[in-house]
Amino acid sequence: MQQESTRLLQAGKTIAFVPTMGYLHEGHLALMREGRKHGDVLVISIFVNPTQFGPAEDLQAYPRDLDRDVSLAESVGVDIVFAPEPEAMYEKAYQTYVDLEVLSGYLCGPSRPSHFRGVASVVTKLFNIVKPHIAIFGEKDYQQLTIIRRMVQDLNFDIRIIGVPIVREPDGLAMSSRNTYLSEDERHSALSLFQSLKQAEESVAKGTRDAKQLIHAASELILSSPHTKIDYVSVCDPETLEDVDRVEGPTLMALAVWVGKTRLIDNVILKP
Ligand code: AMP
Repeated sequence: MQQESTRLLQAGKTIAFVPTMGYLHEGHLALMREGRKHGDVLVISIFVNPTQFGPAEDLQAYPRDLDRDVSLAESVGVDIVFAPEPEAMYEKAYQTYVDLEVLSGYLCGPSRPSHFRGVASVVTKLFNIVKPHIAIFGEKDYQQLTIIRRMVQDLNFDIRIIGVPIVREPDGLAMSSRNTYLSEDERHSALSLFQSLKQAEESVAKGTRDAKQLIHAASELILSSPHTKIDYVSVCDPETLEDVDRVEGPTLMALAVWVGKTRLIDNVILKP
């Protein structure tokens, strides 16, 4: 991949890059369509990165289907699928990590303590391998996007980061490879994530500004669905991710909820 990227750069090509963990859905494909607009060559990676999974998380169970992914990628104009084996990415003596001191601690940080260290490190490696001019990430993983933007700024990566809005199922559920874990009953309960965010949006439109009130209403709605357990519901600054008391400017409302054994995330930008 590195040799191919060097060759492309020497030929004066612009490289756009979409990192993924595969099991592609319309959310991923939206990122690829965006990437197609920005690069002469569109590269995606498919890599279920072990270092971003905690010891009790779903690394082994994570869904994989490389053949299907490759044909979906082809259908939206991807030129190169980079799908390394874990052993090629992490030698036995591997020991270098990128850690963001503050942003990694909020939202998903407390329940996934080394997750963002794994993400920042693998994205750094992928950037060094693929050598893109532009990289595209989804707002679905809002904290991840914030962290990548900060990291690119902090470490002087000469890469433009583009964020793409969340792609949803017709009923509002944010698309995710992990949705395949849900039973029919759980799938129904999972809709409460989107519904609670929509309710908050409507409430802000009607004049509510108090963060605690919004969080309380969202939590109540979610917990009224069976199989749900809240990890967090947060109303925070969309850049620093620090909690806010009131919704004055554009404000991030983000949440993580267990539905049965599946942990789902979703978010919205509240605009008073
Ligand atoms: P993943 O394969 O889950 O690591 O996701 C790869 C990229 O796709 C990340 O930048 C995600 O934020 C993005 N992504 C995943 N699901 C969605 C979605 N429903 N809408 C928009 N982007 C998404």
